[in-house]
Amino acid sequence: MAYSTTGVTLQMFKDQLLKGRIQNMSASQERFDSVCAKAREAMVLHSTADTLEWDERTGMPIAAGDYRAQQISMLRALVHELRTDAGYGENLQQLVEDLKDEDPHEPRVATVRQLHRDWQRDCKLPTALVEQISQATVRGQQKWDAARQADDFSIFENTLENIVDLKREAGSRLSEGTNQSVYEALLDEYEPGAKVDEIQQVFDDLRTPLVQLIAAIRDAPKQPDTGILERTYCIDDQRDFSHHVAEQIGFDFERGRLDETSHPFCTTLGPHDCRILTRYDPHWLPAGLFGTMHEAGHGMYEQGLRSDWFGLPPGSYASLGIHESQSRLWENQVGRSRSFWEWLYPQTSDTFQSQLEGVSLDAFYFAINTVRPSLIRVEADEATYNLHIIIRFDLERQLIDGSLSVKDLPEAWNTRYESDLGIRPPSDADGVLQDVHWSAGLIGYFPTYTLGNAAAAQLFAAASEQIGDLDELFARGEFRLLLDWLRERIHFDGQCYSGTELIERATGKPLNATDLVKYLQAKLEPLYGIAGS
Ligand code: ZN
Repeated sequence: MAYSTTGVTLQMFKDQLLKGRIQNMSASQERFDSVCAKAREAMVLHSTADTLEWDERTGMPIAAGDYRAQQISMLRALVHELRTDAGYGENLQQLVEDLKDEDPHEPRVATVRQLHRDWQRDCKLPTALVEQISQATVRGQQKWDAARQADDFSIFENTLENIVDLKREAGSRLSEGTNQSVYEALLDEYEPGAKVDEIQQVFDDLRTPLVQLIAAIRDAPKQPDTGILERTYCIDDQRDFSHHVAEQIGFDFERGRLDETSHPFCTTLGPHDCRILTRYDPHWLPAGLFGTMHEAGHGMYEQGLRSDWFGLPPGSYASLGIHESQSRLWENQVGRSRSFWEWLYPQTSDTFQSQLEGVSLDAFYFAINTVRPSLIRVEADEATYNLHIIIRFDLERQLIDGSLSVKDLPEAWNTRYESDLGIRPPSDADGVLQDVHWSAGLIGYFPTYTLGNAAAAQLFAAASEQIGDLDELFARGEFRLLLDWLRERIHFDGQCYSGTELIERATGKPLNATDLVKYLQAKLEPLYGIAGS
């Protein structure tokens, strides 16, 4: 039945409307396909540069360095061009409008949101500033290296001052039009959406019980014999053994490789190509073994991301904190647990017969769980590690807000080490100059390490509750259920949820310090024979 007012029947009106909607939908679909194609194209170039970097760090002849730098910087420039293209940005802006009423966690919507966010951030920084930062950080790393060799902070001071000024300027531009502080805008690059107040709360809740626990451990009469880990462990045996362990916990060698380098890392070169790198020390068994488990944890996260969304936000890691939670969980909650060694120790003492002859499982387990305040972050144990991070988090915020000058940084550093860890660095090389981060312009990066530690403990506690007795599984060398749990709750969603949202969804509560404190107390107090507080 036709109903007509202005000569247009209702049916005709409906048809028009539907046609219009279909046209809009198909225009929207075209825009979506176009931005995805562009983002994937950028990823092809980006991963090619990463492949060249992997080669540079695993065996490239030293003389090839200059040409390699040209290759990589040309590819990176092309990536930047694609990602800041005006037409690409217009499409993204239109898509944000098209999809504003849709479910924000749906992969298409998440894709548009994240790509738009990246595009906006890229566009907020003028090319001249980006170039200044890039030059300052290249020089920064050279000066930092020279200062470290000479053990003299003053060689690095002016360069660092320049880097801090430039990063402050970048942060202030990035924070425009948002409710973020300058530091938060810098942090946002590594931990999207993170709030300084929330991080501060987690760190405050962590600091007091940790300082108490570490002091009690220092005074405990029972101490481990770490000498057993310093015997000569043949590198060939360590290499085979680490490969075996990585495979057993779930790293897929059909879609990945394990190699060696001086500074271990994990890099993804394609949807089915994840490279992990470790470092073996013949006189310190934990370096290679736990380094491998750590990087395998990163690698298993990458391997658990959706390959059909490779190069797009639903197939990309959520944040650095989440990435670190995966590596730490396998390294510490699994790799430093007693049940894990009930399974692995017989094989270990078989492989390293002469080194471990007469060493009991308990003595070995105690030795790999040594807690001792030390000067160097990368060598720190899982309890004191977080104090190293809290110091850096406090100092870098002060540098950015101007309340601490670069000139006063070494003294501020040493004072904090003395008050927080009870040891004063005897030199800048073992103090303020030990990390590459600030010289590379990575300000706002450090807190993600401890966020990762807190998240690892919280995820592990939730997994234990939901899966059941994990110790019983580990003692049998069974890790699949835990990996599947992580795949389903963390890996599968990529960036469809923020890091904070992922933790809350998986564990039922916001990220907090409680589970990490409980986990460390429950393990370390009985080991050291100290009474619980
Ligand atoms: Zn890591």
